[in-house]
Amino acid sequence: MHKKLFIPGPIEVKEDVLSKMATPMIGHRSKDASNLQRNITNNFKKLFYTENEILLSTSSGTGLMEAAVRCCTKESAAMFSIGSFGDRWHEMAVSNGVNADLFQSELGSITTPEMVDEVLSTGKYDLVTITHNETSTGVMNPLDEISKVIKKYPDVIFCVDAVSSAGGVKIETDKLGIDICITSSQKALGLPPGLSVCTISERAVEKARNVKNRGYYLDLVQLYDTIKEKDYQYPSTPNLSLMFALNYQLELIMKEGLQNRFDRHLVMAEYTRSWAKRNFALFADEKYASVTLTTVDNTQNISVKGLNEELGKRGFVISNGYGNLKEKTFRIAHMADLTLKDVKELLLNIEDILSIL
Ligand SMILES: *Cc1c(COP(=O)(O)O)cnc(C)c1O
Repeated sequence: MHKKLFIPGPIEVKEDVLSKMATPMIGHRSKDASNLQRNITNNFKKLFYTENEILLSTSSGTGLMEAAVRCCTKESAAMFSIGSFGDRWHEMAVSNGVNADLFQSELGSITTPEMVDEVLSTGKYDLVTITHNETSTGVMNPLDEISKVIKKYPDVIFCVDAVSSAGGVKIETDKLGIDICITSSQKALGLPPGLSVCTISERAVEKARNVKNRGYYLDLVQLYDTIKEKDYQYPSTPNLSLMFALNYQLELIMKEGLQNRFDRHLVMAEYTRSWAKRNFALFADEKYASVTLTTVDNTQNISVKGLNEELGKRGFVISNGYGNLKEKTFRIAHMADLTLKDVKELLLNIEDILSIL
């Protein structure tokens, strides 16, 4: 039996989207391949509210996160973390020999604009990384306020991990001044894993041209230049099957309407939060609670593993807490193409199981 996925990636994928992956293959140096990537790019520009170029990578989101840090840091990177995914960005810098400092907030809290201002005002850093939506804690950073501060430092390349938010929450990349905004296929975009996407500003590309040892496969300059020289093609052979599905899914997203899609995510989030507060508690401060997943504080001290086993018998799966938060919290994803009806059905089943656990 297929278990409906309420986990923060991979997420439930619609049948018709999945079936697009069975499209017959085309040559990756054909006009069709150019048209495919160009169509995808045009819709991503709308989704990310940007005029900047869109890069695709046949890797998960981690690939482009690593690429951004390695290709665009010359001096040192200031990495702000509010959980495991923020920490991971710092690990990538270290393992690539990129100078970087990690600035962590307490689990469950945000990166404050004041912290960012204080760190950048030292003048030591030429790249900054921010996690938009920290999937390990269910906290969403105030990107608007943080970006206002970062604008005071125009020489700093601004990178955002929007892996678990893009496609579910409005991110106005150009208005916020984001140079590189990264996401993955298997989260709020509602596709299988294996593709990563980012926006890239001209100045980030120009900066990268002067950085040595950018690597090969994840060289952002090569990804960018190939698009320009070969009319929207990819330097090596991309995951064309996923690109067929992505192209189709982006058309569905545009048909739904971006604002409708963001509203639907918010409705699911608000419903889940109020349920969580009635039955347990929210792990995050509600003001900064994620719109694409809810982290529930396990105040009833239930066995999350046991709950998930029972849910499994009924055809659902949720996520345990991440890392040290395992069993102390659990996470319910409400992103991509899930609806309020799906969420209500899941929560009714959880209530039913709680009465017998
Ligand atoms: C899932 C996730 C990642 C990692 O993305 P992959 O596509 O698995 O490489 C990074 N950051 C956040 C916030 C995530 O949710």
